[in-house]
Amino acid sequence: LCTLSGTAEIGRNCNFVEYGDEIVVIDAGYAFPGHEMYGIDYLIPNVSYLKKNKEKVKAILITHGHLDHTGALKWILPELGYPPVYAGGFAKALIDLKMKEYKMEDKVKVISVDRKSTLNIGRNFKATFVGINHSIPDAFSIFVESPRGNVFFSGDYKIDMSPANEPQTDYEKLRNLRGKIDLALMESTNASNPGKAPSETEIFQNLGELISQQKGRVIVAAFSSLITRLYSLVEVAKRTNRKIVLSGKSLEQSIDIARQKNYINIDDKFLIKESNMSKYPDNELLLLCTGSQAERFAALNRISLNEHKFIKIKKGDLVIMSSSEIPENISSIEKMTDRLIALGADLIKDSVELKIHSTGHGNQEDMKMMHNLIQPKYIMPIHGPLTFRYFNKQNFVRWGVDEKDVFLTDDGQTWVFNGVSWSRGKKIESKPILIDGLGVGDIGDIVLKDRKQLSEFGIFSVILNISSKNKRIIGRPRFISRGFIYMKGSRELLQEIENLVMDIHRDWLNRSHREKMFKDEELRERIEKELSKLIYKRTEREPIILTAII
Ligand SMILES: [Zn+2]
Ligand SMILES: [Zn+2]
Repeated sequence: LCTLSGTAEIGRNCNFVEYGDEIVVIDAGYAFPGHEMYGIDYLIPNVSYLKKNKEKVKAILITHGHLDHTGALKWILPELGYPPVYAGGFAKALIDLKMKEYKMEDKVKVISVDRKSTLNIGRNFKATFVGINHSIPDAFSIFVESPRGNVFFSGDYKIDMSPANEPQTDYEKLRNLRGKIDLALMESTNASNPGKAPSETEIFQNLGELISQQKGRVIVAAFSSLITRLYSLVEVAKRTNRKIVLSGKSLEQSIDIARQKNYINIDDKFLIKESNMSKYPDNELLLLCTGSQAERFAALNRISLNEHKFIKIKKGDLVIMSSSEIPENISSIEKMTDRLIALGADLIKDSVELKIHSTGHGNQEDMKMMHNLIQPKYIMPIHGPLTFRYFNKQNFVRWGVDEKDVFLTDDGQTWVFNGVSWSRGKKIESKPILIDGLGVGDIGDIVLKDRKQLSEFGIFSVILNISSKNKRIIGRPRFISRGFIYMKGSRELLQEIENLVMDIHRDWLNRSHREKMFKDEELRERIEKELSKLIYKRTEREPIILTAII
């Protein structure tokens, strides 16, 4: 087994099992980069080992349709020679749509699986898909059997005793795995949350009650990946006699697929275009928006900035945040809700009493139930930073598992099973691959540093017109500033900069005469070095400084 990627984060999931000359891969997701990686769109798993062994790769099995489990297929499939992909119906629909967008649909083969699927893969593997609950339909745990040993991949799950629009977790099938699981890879997202995750039906009822009492427009911010919630919201709209307005491309796509898959049923007449909204009374409208994390260009944020073409906040509007707050977004979300309230909206956020949001990841009680159902011999917490996995391990120990039977692994770590116990094997290459725009490749640290500097401090450039004959400056140096200082308000600093540039030039000219060698490059380097010192001293900022000598 190799925990190739996504071990220590929520994103970039990709693991594989190897036996003899065959490999089966589980999930191929991407991650969004942290704030400090400028211009990087995605991080994907490093598949250099798999690429070297691509004739061994027999299949990629997908636990569910979320992008942290499927988003890297676009880049990984070509590298591995397009092995077949097995995915549940909903995930298949999402993957097919993406592949069409990328014009790869002719090469990619996605085979649909369901709760009854058990597949033979290659000569050595058998994979059983077990239906579970998450926040997207057709989510699975996957049980992979090989002649040497058997590995269980929990996938993202919660134990929902009353899911809103899908069957419950297949308890029977999980229980039947007891005694057969040599290692279980268990997700750790909510390992520190005590108790049981609220059921989607409960959320559905609470939202219904809340919305039915409203007299004005209701605007709900929800994750477009939380398909179960979208179902609840659509049903609430129908029952409270409100038409649905969608704002945000990703939401439209999710609803579209959910309708195609008959997971969500809405009559066309219930779906209103933003531009037609004004024809309906306020109490007949439910607006679903992207932007629960205050993403710059998402609908709710644009509404809060009064930039949205069709949706303008007015008194009597209620904004409901039916989503969790990703910690690094909290301050932007707060600023966004500040603006919404200032515009006159009422605001309701999720709270313990209201319970209008529940994630698709189980809390401790859910995890305990899962563990009790499958009773694996060894456990490996994945899908979360080390702190999450550490607490996950402690949970298992609390529930009676021997501490030495729970392994904390790393990205790229291989584990070898001898039929009885597991030992750490070699580490393979696992440094994330950065995807920049449409290209693939290793963006160097220097490029990233430049982007960071540009975004924080801007750019300041010096243009020197130098005579080719005597190397004297013709006229005065010119300066251009972008995102650094406002030139008109910085006369003093500019004068100081000009003096410094003149001094450096004079100095350079004298020395060059002495040495009878004129190196423009030297002049440029000195100007940039001295200027950055001066600018830092005066402004405590570090813009990128560019000198052009013409
Ligand atoms: Zn998920
Ligand atoms: Zn996930």
